[in-house]
Amino acid sequence: MLTQLPASLDPYRAAAADKHFSGRISAGGFTRLASSVLAIAEEGVELDLSFGSRQDVRASLTGTVQVEVEMECQRCLGPMWVPVTGQFKLAFVRFPSEVDEVPDDLEAIQLDKPEIDLRALIEDELILALPLVPMHQESCQAWQDDEAATDDTQAGAEPKDNPFAVLAKLKQDS
Ligand SMILES: [Zn+2]
Repeated sequence: MLTQLPASLDPYRAAAADKHFSGRISAGGFTRLASSVLAIAEEGVELDLSFGSRQDVRASLTGTVQVEVEMECQRCLGPMWVPVTGQFKLAFVRFPSEVDEVPDDLEAIQLDKPEIDLRALIEDELILALPLVPMHQESCQAWQDDEAATDDTQAGAEPKDNPFAVLAKLKQDS
């Protein structure tokens, strides 16, 4: 069962109402994320997000978003599924002068219009959370190739292209 998110919402109102969203949403329409990865898991995005306010912040958004994406292992270039978790610790402000007042544990987001596009924010956060250099932990084809190469050396196999062997041959001929 997919959770529906409002297409846009006023973060100040959402905070005043302590709005909470949790569940799964479809990743359909996340075209920027889709173009950064090989595939997005059909299960979509798991989210747990809370709007709220506290003494020092009028409107905050905290919580996590998670998705599984398929990326290319940077060691063996094979496909791999990677769990990606984005963290929200945002404080919404209307004016530049308010940015400095945002406590250090939150990141200030200055609004350029009254409403935010929550899906776009979620997509931004997931793109930021993508691993820069995804690599298989185990069962990487490159590791297996490495091990095979090490086995050869241990078995005492002659290196195929030993330049000194050619040199030695030339000396014998002269
Ligand atoms: Zn790999």
